[in-house]
Amino acid sequence: MSIMDLTSMAEAQKADRQELEERLRKLSLEAAEKCYQCGKCTSGCEAHKLLELEPHRIVALTKAGLFSEMTSSDLIWTCVSCFKCYERCPQKVAPVNILFALKNLSVLNGKDVPGNYTAMLQSAMTIGLVQDVQETVDRKGAVRTRDSLGLPPPPRPKDMEHFMAAIMGTAVEKV
Ligand code: SF4
Ligand code: SF4
Repeated sequence: MSIMDLTSMAEAQKADRQELEERLRKLSLEAAEKCYQCGKCTSGCEAHKLLELEPHRIVALTKAGLFSEMTSSDLIWTCVSCFKCYERCPQKVAPVNILFALKNLSVLNGKDVPGNYTAMLQSAMTIGLVQDVQETVDRKGAVRTRDSLGLPPPPRPKDMEHFMAAIMGTAVEKV
């Protein structure tokens, strides 16, 4: 890699950091203005049920500007980006957007993207689905497929090349 490459990479990273810090600053102001810690986001959070992520606490820590504490925690990676917290919030605060920004900042700070994220990306780029179609077992122990349940195959991208180009563009810009 040339010095020019390294310089432009450093400049791009600086711009990314500034953009992220500005985004977090705005999210922090919005949280301070609107969130009254009712906990509705946490009570519907899929990651909270299994993995103890508490979006209302993420919002409270964001209000307090404690970003480095959150970017160094693995907990932020348990968010499955389902947007339920946003849908449930009576104040239209979006903890999910805070978590997107924190994940990006975490990577910029040198943390590795967890393996399950890269596996999902790999699967999406290979078969157009984040996970291949699974079989399930019913109460009697019989193996059931989508076909045997009368379900159609899941929709996949019609133009794989175009789809992959879109994913690559997004993967470069956002986690
Ligand atoms: S649901 Fe909205 S207002 Fe309530 S704690 Fe969560 S972010 Fe704050
Ligand atoms: S987007 Fe993340 S934080 Fe929000 S409800 Fe879903 S898993 Fe929880």
